[in-house]
Amino acid sequence: MNILVLGGGGREHALAWAIKQNPKCDRLIVAPGNAGIAAIAEIAAIDPCDAAAVLACVEENAVDFVVVGPEAPLAAGVADALRAAGILTFGPSAEAAKLEASKAFTKEVCDACAAPTAAWARFDTLEAARAYVRAQGAPIVVKADGLAAGKGVIVAMTLEEAEAGLEEIFGGAFGAAGAEVVIEEFMEGEEASFFILSDGKDVLPVGTAQDHKRVGDGDTGPNTGGMGAYSPAPVLSGAIQEQVLAEIVRPTVAEMARRGTPFQGVLYAGLMIKDGRARLVEYNVRFGDPECQVLMLRLGAQALDLLIACAEGRLGEVRAQWAEDHALTVVMAARGYPGAYRKGTPIDGLEDLAEDSNHMVFHAGTARQDGVLVATGGRVLNVTARGATLKEAQTRAYDMVDAIDWPEGFCRRDIGWRAL
Ligand code: ATP
Repeated sequence: MNILVLGGGGREHALAWAIKQNPKCDRLIVAPGNAGIAAIAEIAAIDPCDAAAVLACVEENAVDFVVVGPEAPLAAGVADALRAAGILTFGPSAEAAKLEASKAFTKEVCDACAAPTAAWARFDTLEAARAYVRAQGAPIVVKADGLAAGKGVIVAMTLEEAEAGLEEIFGGAFGAAGAEVVIEEFMEGEEASFFILSDGKDVLPVGTAQDHKRVGDGDTGPNTGGMGAYSPAPVLSGAIQEQVLAEIVRPTVAEMARRGTPFQGVLYAGLMIKDGRARLVEYNVRFGDPECQVLMLRLGAQALDLLIACAEGRLGEVRAQWAEDHALTVVMAARGYPGAYRKGTPIDGLEDLAEDSNHMVFHAGTARQDGVLVATGGRVLNVTARGATLKEAQTRAYDMVDAIDWPEGFCRRDIGWRAL
């Protein structure tokens, strides 16, 4: 099988790494990839959101199966274009991708299927939104409806913060994504993520994880795209996973099918857990980054079989085989991230690291310049390890971090603390 993976971050490096190990994979192409991916796959220098370019790449390389990594190509309808051309594709249609692209849409779906989530209301004028917030009081959560790269959510502890958030969103800070706001009840609890494949009718859980969003040790400082993650998430007990499948995920999948827009791909359920019960915070319609890195290290080659079964509508026939193991990933970022940072700084020491099924450095933002590996983004490397215990995985990951010579990089030293 010739396989094309769309995307170029640590998530796609991890997907490519797992897919490549499966004997079903003949050729592996990643677009646009990065320097780490280039070591294990062919690179196609195309924009993954450009459906015409993706279709041309598929035709040129006789691609049999496409895996869409990030949300932007999904929201842009690339999976629809591929399926319309008869190409087996993993990833939801643009219509089903609204479960991530529109918060109000997700809330409507939750209401329609009685899935437990925060109480909410939607507004398209500042005045009406402000009146509602004043009537509800703080704490309260204000969200731009559309995709805003995690920046369009204000968890307001005071009315002043909530109103400032509304003014920012309606002032145009998020463009069209902020034409409407969703205002939600503030939920307390512990957050965790649950990843479930859906072929439109059947569902298959493929792992749980927790991430660390804040830049600093002890979960302090500004929010980031994620500074590390681990799997499994101990807070998501078997009983809570069953509750989530029964009350949230299966009803959502059924509701999407009822609407004529079945969801095919991975549902990433962001959950708030309190007193042994979970409520939905949000859905994403793709694997998390860096959560995908820990899931792929644990799943290995079978990941490809599961993705194909999902795309072919055969999830009812397959099972994920789990080892009793743990995986943890540490994100190494460029100094200054999530603020301004330098690009092009050299990274050394990776060649000497032994990479195997327990140790992998996935590349998130790297390139080769004149043979030298350099950082090209904010989040740059995902140093990932597996172990019989979370502690063992953590020790292995930080041993690798310490062997990497990148003076302009930094990482948190406490990934996994909550579970340890
Ligand atoms: P991201 O991409 O960072 O996940 P997003 O833009 O998709 O963000 P959400 O996941 O809806 O937005 O919200 C971001 C974060 O805000 C959540 O992970 C959670 O910590 C917090 N949050 C969102 N909604 C609520 C809520 N109703 N109660 C408490 N906290 C919330």
